[in-house]
Amino acid sequence: MANITLKAVRKSFGSFEVIKGIDLEIRKGEFMVFVGPSGCGKSTLLRLISGLEEITSGDLMFDDARVNNVIPSERGIAMVFQSYVLYPHMKVYDNLAFGMKLGKRDKSEIDTRVRKAAEMLQIDHLLDRLPRQLSGGQRQRVAIGRAIVRDPRVFLFDEPLSNLDAALRVATRLEIAKPHHDMNDVTMIYVTHDQVEAMTLADRICVLRDGVVEQVGTPAELYEKPNSVFVAGFIGSPKMNFLTGTFADAVGCTTLGIRAEHIDIVDQADATWTGTVVHAEDLGSDHFLFVDIGADEPVVVRRSGKLDTGMLGQVVSLRPQAENLHRFGPDDKPLG
Ligand code: ATP
Repeated sequence: MANITLKAVRKSFGSFEVIKGIDLEIRKGEFMVFVGPSGCGKSTLLRLISGLEEITSGDLMFDDARVNNVIPSERGIAMVFQSYVLYPHMKVYDNLAFGMKLGKRDKSEIDTRVRKAAEMLQIDHLLDRLPRQLSGGQRQRVAIGRAIVRDPRVFLFDEPLSNLDAALRVATRLEIAKPHHDMNDVTMIYVTHDQVEAMTLADRICVLRDGVVEQVGTPAELYEKPNSVFVAGFIGSPKMNFLTGTFADAVGCTTLGIRAEHIDIVDQADATWTGTVVHAEDLGSDHFLFVDIGADEPVVVRRSGKLDTGMLGQVVSLRPQAENLHRFGPDDKPLG
């Protein structure tokens, strides 16, 4: 069991306050992802939960126990960092077994656990190799395996995939999601900059901004019902289109938000906006058109299928889908 609760948690480095009063509950068995701009405090929050940093004020609870003063090795957590170090002279098997050997576990228990973790991560055929004989993704999986064999109650991941190339990121992301499904009462907290990782791995995402929680919710909730302009602009790629001033149509609405996939190209008679296609990006399965409608920035429109390059320079008529408009008031909060 590991329900993690933060109550009014603050952290200062000298006079510089980085975490400014965070209340958050991470449920047992949950995959929670922390996202937010660089410097907002994601890694610091993870380090407070791990015990690598001391909390300045507030309470950190694991289930009903206050763990502020419990040393890291007694918190039942395992951490996987962006940069990880395997013992270069030890085979994969011994890298995986090392922590348990130190803990003086029974030899057959160690063997069972190492093989189970290796199988789960599909590195069981690599147990006799040395780290230098592995690819980057395989090494990262050994690092994850080393955390798994310790049988932690809580996993903390700090951008574990950011050193990998695109294809390996996808493969390793699946490996991270898998143990979560296989060990359904393990709690995972994961820091990332990567939108796709956040949206695909998370049960819930916590959006942090300047040391406070901006919104917590499922990926779909954050995508569909962002509670501020900030979250609307932060979650989703490409970024939500924002229109202000005369383009914001409703009374009291200062910012209108509409996602790229919620704008249709229509006949001129049905147009809300008209503009010129100034740029396009082709992703193969779908494409983005950047349309200058006279607002501060071009409006991005997502369409399925391959790009017709003849669209560049054309004038198009656009209509946002009314049911998918996001209207924000002067306080940047949603209206209605
Ligand atoms: P990034 O996405 O860039 O990794 P982050 O959201 O993880 O950023 P943190 O690493 O938690 O942000 O840092 C938050 C703030 O705290 C930053 O302004 C950072 O400079 C500061 N900070 C972090 N650790 C220390 C420290 N040991 N001493 C002083 N300031 C620190």
